Amino acid sequence: MNCAALIVSAGRGHRFGGTLPKQYRTIAGEPVLRRTVTAFAAHPDVDAVRVVIHPDDRSLYDEAVSGLDLLPPVHGGADRQESVHLGLDSLKELAPEKILIHDSVRPLVLAQLISGVLKAIGPGRGALPALPVADTLKRADDHVVAGTVDRTGLWRAQTPQGFCFADILAAHEEAAKRSEALTDDAAVAEQAGLTVQLVPGDERNLKITTEDDLARVEAFMEGGMGLVRVGTGFDVHRFGPGDAVTLCGVRIPHNAGLVGHSDADAGLHAITDALLGAAGAGDIGDHFPPSDEKWRDAPSDIFLRHAADLIASRGGRVLNVDLTLICERPKIAPHRAQMRERVAEILNLAADQVSVKATTTEKLGFTGREEGIAAQATAAIMLPTR
Ligand code: MG
Repeated sequence: MNCAALIVSAGRGHRFGGTLPKQYRTIAGEPVLRRTVTAFAAHPDVDAVRVVIHPDDRSLYDEAVSGLDLLPPVHGGADRQESVHLGLDSLKELAPEKILIHDSVRPLVLAQLISGVLKAIGPGRGALPALPVADTLKRADDHVVAGTVDRTGLWRAQTPQGFCFADILAAHEEAAKRSEALTDDAAVAEQAGLTVQLVPGDERNLKITTEDDLARVEAFMEGGMGLVRVGTGFDVHRFGPGDAVTLCGVRIPHNAGLVGHSDADAGLHAITDALLGAAGAGDIGDHFPPSDEKWRDAPSDIFLRHAADLIASRGGRVLNVDLTLICERPKIAPHRAQMRERVAEILNLAADQVSVKATTTEKLGFTGREEGIAAQATAAIMLPTR
């Protein structure tokens, strides 16, 4: 095994208010621990993830990580150092070449930061992400300044801290023989004479220690942790026998119908393709093959909802959709408000996140000759950065 991640989650958060340990608190609908663990489990260079938990937290843990593919958890010890040591011991059989050790309460660790740490690890050399100290540092006695600390060469250490597994296991075995409790694994490594390389840290990779930190994490997620992605969709259906067309889920009486395998709702098909395009998830035909009899005459809100569910399953959300229907007839204007409402309802959006417009092609082309209806759509979505 090339690389394992050890997530240290055995603390009970004595400095934190409330009764629920902070790693099990929820941010943006997800337990802190689940978000942290997912960052490692989803990283292409991490082969296995093990969490060190407090024995009393087993049911909280099971609930927080349900459905994730992780190694079984192990119980921690009296302090962080002992918990890491027990976690490393439990990985002896797997014997990964490299190990990443991370605090469970740093949920906003980005894939590129993990990659940066991994790249810097070598035999006899560990790595940790760090940020320079920007504030002036004061030493104080009973809230009275007693001196100014020279901050030259001072860094704030974050996690994950990475090492060759054999190096850090041996270092922890040595450190366990001493009584001094060390607060991070770099300190254990330093004592053992290993080199520890600094790599760039990230302000967002903060450690949740106070209630304010939870709010800061949520603010980062709202503002800067997502990636806006845009997709386009285009669809055409031809007129055929019938007395009504369905556009954006709204039935409009007409002297013709639209021909298609499903209900031929070109509007919803274009929006569906725009959403799938934004997610990089293929097109409507990939998800609902026209060769499949199951979708004959199907109402197209099924397709649209499927695209929205797919985005939600990746932790994303739809920001807005904009649709243009192109035809001479039927007249769209009287039905626009209802179409907008229906699309917003299917996607669970506010009405102002949905736009439905219509135009003609001045009697030119197939739409001008009233042979069919075209629809084009743009959609913007927000996907989380992991
Ligand atoms: Mg279609």
